[in-house]
Amino acid sequence: MRKRVLVTGGAGFLGSHLCERLLKEGHEVICLDNYFTGNKENILHLLDNPYFELVRHDVISPYYAEVDQIYNLACPASPIHYQYNPIKTVKTSVMGAINILGLAKRVKARVLQASTSEVYGDPLVHPQKESYWGHVNPIGQRACYDEGKRCAETLFLGYHTQNSVEVKIMRIFNTYGPRMHPNDGRVVSNFIMQALRGKDITVYGDGMQTRSFCYVDDNIEGMVRLMNSREGFIGPVNIGNPHEVTILDLAERIIDLTGSKSQIVCKPQPADDPMQRQPDITMAKGELGWEPVVPLEVGLMKTIEYFSGLLKTNPKILHQLVYR
Ligand code: NAD
Ligand code: UDP
Repeated sequence: MRKRVLVTGGAGFLGSHLCERLLKEGHEVICLDNYFTGNKENILHLLDNPYFELVRHDVISPYYAEVDQIYNLACPASPIHYQYNPIKTVKTSVMGAINILGLAKRVKARVLQASTSEVYGDPLVHPQKESYWGHVNPIGQRACYDEGKRCAETLFLGYHTQNSVEVKIMRIFNTYGPRMHPNDGRVVSNFIMQALRGKDITVYGDGMQTRSFCYVDDNIEGMVRLMNSREGFIGPVNIGNPHEVTILDLAERIIDLTGSKSQIVCKPQPADDPMQRQPDITMAKGELGWEPVVPLEVGLMKTIEYFSGLLKTNPKILHQLVYR
């Protein structure tokens, strides 16, 4: 049955893939974005579809539309982006959640929150299960994002228990793929762009910190399954790829896959950089029948092809401002 679906942050990396997927399934999509880190190029190819609508709006102000489902993705996700204006990041997470939950309550829509593995902070439990409360520095550089997202989870649960809003909470682990911003400072985009341009690969610290990278198609599959999961199942549920690698290993793989002559150089590690991260996905497997299927090398090759195409068509891309 055709649904009307609101995607906040729809012009961003994950949001644009989600809009595409929902339109393919035959739904009507309202894509709402303030274009802080997203851009119209990500969704240009959807503009001809009569079931796709684009709205320039900031989630820190209330928004109203009659919709059946809401995916709340609006929030800068990369550390350099969310640390650019930390107060705005908190406002986006907290006031954005309040406005979106208020809308969901009013129009009786089901609403999914894009939460994050960052709620676990620099985790002392490994791998991370949903029952782990986390290890977050409330006054550190990452706090605006981590605490904002933690508060948003609290709000989602509150609107469910107090106002019977149907909510779903998804804790997303590092996700990569085409349409990541080439300038966003995240490790996969940085390393691939550096390798393609023959520049030094900048490993922060000794590169022994770990992450577990999930390809975007797997993430979107998990997101849609969670939204449509049984009534009463809220989560939070981890959606990520349990295949854990060190950052040094990632750098070496990207050099191999691109055939680059780039050298690896070590740079200082940012404060509060989590040393390990790996999702326990038992809950996602049991509740959603979901697990990632795209191997790291395959996903990296698709991402390399995307960035290499971008460099050919728009060689000035790295000089373009992200913030507008
Ligand atoms: P992104 O930066 O590409 O997309 C975020 C989108 O939200 C952008 O289009 C941006 O313009 C928009 N936005 C930001 N602030 C807004 C505001 N105040 N009002 C309206 N729109 C606003 O990031 P992404 O990787 O696509 O992440 C999407 C969501 O998933 C975010 O909520 C992020 O926290 C979460 N997440 C992503 C990852 C990941 O690895 N990509 C990991 C964990 C969580
Ligand atoms: N990182 C790195 N070099 C870079 C960018 C990132 O070594 O050019 C490291 C970073 O210190 C962190 C990991 O890669 O340990 C993942 O960083 P990213 O910003 O992609 O995601 P997050 O830290 O939010 O998981």
